Amino acid sequence: MAALKETFAARVIAWQRHAGRHDLPWQKTRDAYRIWLSEVMLQQTQVATVLPYYERFLKAFPDVATLARAAPDEVMAHWSGLGYYSRARNLHRAARDVVEHHGGRVPQSAALLETLPGIGRSSAAAIAAFAFGERAAILDGNVKRVLCRVFGIERPMQKQSTERELVGFALGLLPEHGIERYTQGLMDLGATVCTAKAPRCPDCPFANDCIARASGRIATLPAPREKRITPRRKASFVLARHSQSVWLERRPERGIWGGLWCLPASALDARSGAGEAQLLERFMKAPAQAGVASEFARFEHAFTHFTLLASVFAIDCRREDDFGRDGRWVPWRDCASLGLPAPIKTLLLDVQQGLFR
Ligand code: SF4
Repeated sequence: MAALKETFAARVIAWQRHAGRHDLPWQKTRDAYRIWLSEVMLQQTQVATVLPYYERFLKAFPDVATLARAAPDEVMAHWSGLGYYSRARNLHRAARDVVEHHGGRVPQSAALLETLPGIGRSSAAAIAAFAFGERAAILDGNVKRVLCRVFGIERPMQKQSTERELVGFALGLLPEHGIERYTQGLMDLGATVCTAKAPRCPDCPFANDCIARASGRIATLPAPREKRITPRRKASFVLARHSQSVWLERRPERGIWGGLWCLPASALDARSGAGEAQLLERFMKAPAQAGVASEFARFEHAFTHFTLLASVFAIDCRREDDFGRDGRWVPWRDCASLGLPAPIKTLLLDVQQGLFR
């Protein structure tokens, strides 16, 4: 074990040199803002999904000052479809923090980076390592998996004490030199070789030393989290439409789809479609509505902690009445450029293309 620990970093570095990823756009820069953006986008999201968003976002907001000056709607529109929207809100807030409190320069240490909204311990370590060469230890889910398997660490992952223990362990493995390649190597190993379900052990630099492999415990390391049954919750949406436009409302800043534009909705995470009657009443009592609300579409959307079963009610309006609640009439052609939750965007595009009538 001691020998494995001593040689671990050098072997990760050597492996990354010949078998790791070298062409990702954020690997070709020392620009802390670009690295930071990639780290935020890559949280809970695969590289292939991130790539087009990353390029488009940078085109619109090439530096931290431009991002800080942007309107929240503009930022959300460029994030729309990538999910986990609190990431975009925090990134925007953090950009403003950088301009207001750090003279427009991204802080140059993991400890300071961690004080910005949306940057956790592991992301701060990655940004500091890649942008400033700081010897900081990343420890995201992929890295935890590699360490637990290689070193046979059996601990319940949800416990804070395990987290602290693993941080200490990861710090003890850091190389004296080559932190950038080591950090990238760990990421690459976790994402491309030591994957959760089908690790490619023959391609792994630790194939002959890995304790999980030698003891037949790959499937049980790291110790799986207790399974939760995902609840299913109902919610209703109103599609109030006029000939050329649709009524959209901004979601409250906090909570599901916070700050995004959306069809008016009943409570999204209530247990049983709470608020549907009040929602429909608000629209049905408007004098300019021309037809009775009818359910015309349904969709399901999976959040991390529940599945949303949505019913959409259409109401045709004779004129563009004001329905209040931070809403406005949006021309159909402008919908695609607003920050909308992905399933709502899909629904509106389907309506526009005549898939629903
Ligand atoms: S040998 Fe297999 S299980 Fe062990 S670290 Fe490598 S890829 Fe993962």
